[in-house]
Order: sequence, then C-alpha cells, then structure tokens
Amino acid sequence: MMAADGKKIWMDGRMVDFANAQVHVLTHTLHYGVGVFEGIRAYPTTGGGGAIFRLREHVERLVTSARFYHMPIPYSVEEIEKAILDTQAANGILPSYIRPLVYRGEPALGVKNLKGKVSLAIAAIPAKKYLGDGSETGVRTKISPFRKPSSEALPSFAKATGNYANSYLAGADASKDGYEEAILLDCRGFVAEGTGENIFVVRGGTVYTPGLESDILLGITRDSVIQIATDLGFPVVQKLVSVNELLSADEAFFSGTYAEIAPIREVGHYAIGSKVPGPITRSIMDVFFRAIRGEVPAYQKWLSPIPPLPRVEVPPAARR
Ligand code: PMP
Repeated sequence: MMAADGKKIWMDGRMVDFANAQVHVLTHTLHYGVGVFEGIRAYPTTGGGGAIFRLREHVERLVTSARFYHMPIPYSVEEIEKAILDTQAANGILPSYIRPLVYRGEPALGVKNLKGKVSLAIAAIPAKKYLGDGSETGVRTKISPFRKPSSEALPSFAKATGNYANSYLAGADASKDGYEEAILLDCRGFVAEGTGENIFVVRGGTVYTPGLESDILLGITRDSVIQIATDLGFPVVQKLVSVNELLSADEAFFSGTYAEIAPIREVGHYAIGSKVPGPITRSIMDVFFRAIRGEVPAYQKWLSPIPPLPRVEVPPAARR
C-alpha cells in the first residue's frame, strides 16, 4: 500500500490543493471501472536534481489506452508531458510516484455513457519500495487461483481501471495466505504476470518473458529490462511460459514501475534458484538502478529532467 499524500493535484489544467481534489460520487468511472491511468516514477539523479523515467512512453500508453476506451484525452502528448512535469515540480517529492488518471467525472449513470466530459487528473506522491524487503531479498509469491481475463474480454494492452478488480482479487488472496505477491496465469494456464508487474524467468543463461498472447500489460519496465539484458549480451526470448518452466527456473524476477526489478524467491512451496537475486537478475538490476539515477550514458534518453520551481521574488520590504 502506498500512503497517498502530496501538496497539489493537477485537475484539467488547475493545480488543486491535495485535500480538495474531489469528484462526484456518481461518476461513471467509479461505478463501471471505465477509466485509464498510468503509474510513473521520478527519481533523484546523481548529477543533482531529478528526472522522470520514460515519460514519453507512459504518456503514449495513456493516450492509446484512452483512445481504445473511447475517452480521447482533450490534451496533446506534449501538453500532458508538461502537466506531469509541472505536477512533479509543484509537489517537490523525490523519489515520487506519479499517477495520471483519465476519467469521466460528471455525475451520470448508465454504462453506455460515451458523452460525458473526459477529464485528466495527475497526482505525485512519495514512492516507497512496493514489495517491501522482498524488493532486494526476493519476493515470496503464490500462483493465484484467479486467472487473467482473456483479451477477448478485457484487452490487456490498455491500462484500464477495471482490469484491476482482477489484480485486486489475486493480490488479496496472496496477502491472506501470507505471500507478498500473486502470479496470475492466462486463461490457458500459461504464466502471465503479477498483479502490477511483468515476470521474467531465467533458464540456462536465456531470459524468457511472456508476450502479449498471454494477456499481459506490455510494461515499460519490461521493455527497459529487455533492452538492458540484450545490451548485456543475454539472449531474451518472448514466448509462452509454462508453470513448470517457472517452478524449475534458475532465476525469476518481476519488473514494474512501482516494483522496479524485484527478484522472486519462492512460488508457493517451491524455491526459485539458490541465491536471490541470481547472477543474471543481479546484473540487470545493477544497470537498471544506475540508469534511473542517470549514471548510464546509453540510457540517459529514458530520463526527462524535472524543471526547477519558478523562483518567487520576495519584495525587499518582506525580507526582514
Ligand atoms: N502488469 C500490470 C498488470 C501492471 O499493472 C503493471 C504496472 N503498470 C505492469 C505489468 C508493469 O508495467 P510498467 O513496467 O509499465 O509499470
């Protein structure tokens, strides 16, 4: 769970005080789970200041998700990027978790609501380690009794609020059983992803990860991992991954904006590999955690610097 607090929330072009960022109880999105959103991180960078990680890719996914749900965002990609950077600067929190949400906020019931005004809100709150100590020492997981819905029912490439009822059920079941995270299978029984993370397994020096045919979200961290692993010289293969391949893997790990890269130490009663994190996971993590801090020139392109807050000139009379 993340503590949700901050100073300002951007709502349709206005910076609203955190406590006053409200919507009506009869909003379409609240009742029917029809909204789309993003989870983005900003980090302090080693050279000073801070940067947002892969901002353009997150904004493009938000726009794609919104269009698919017939909720065209009334702002351009550049305007949304600027609003996100402004929100980050106005809250002055690092590391932060940034949550843009596209929703229909006016009171109107009826599931086939295509007309309600489409709104955008952006929050920036303090970011913590999502999977607690397991982020470093290995996450204890179980295979969820809840499977991913087929993309013929709920297309997984779109990051829609309603998809997370499925993640919630899987996560609640895992928590109640004492595990830190659930691994969901697709509707045919192949390994799909975590409740909010993609999954990788390492076998015989090759890195495997499920593809879109397993009804996953195409994660932006997943893409970063694929690029880093490839650049490090590890073969990366996207394919159907069986439970058997997961349980007998040399290494396994999650990737996600909030989870970052988190090694998996157990799946139910089965220990993964012998050392957590395993050597390939560790070398990918090492590059990733340096890249987000701006320490890897080749991945500097993934960082958007946060603008400094506009300086407020204090009149001489008020300085004393
Ligand atoms: N799968 C699901 C279901 C998610 O919610 C997330 C988090 N957005 C991910 C995978 C990882 O995606 P990303 O790396 O873009 O955060």
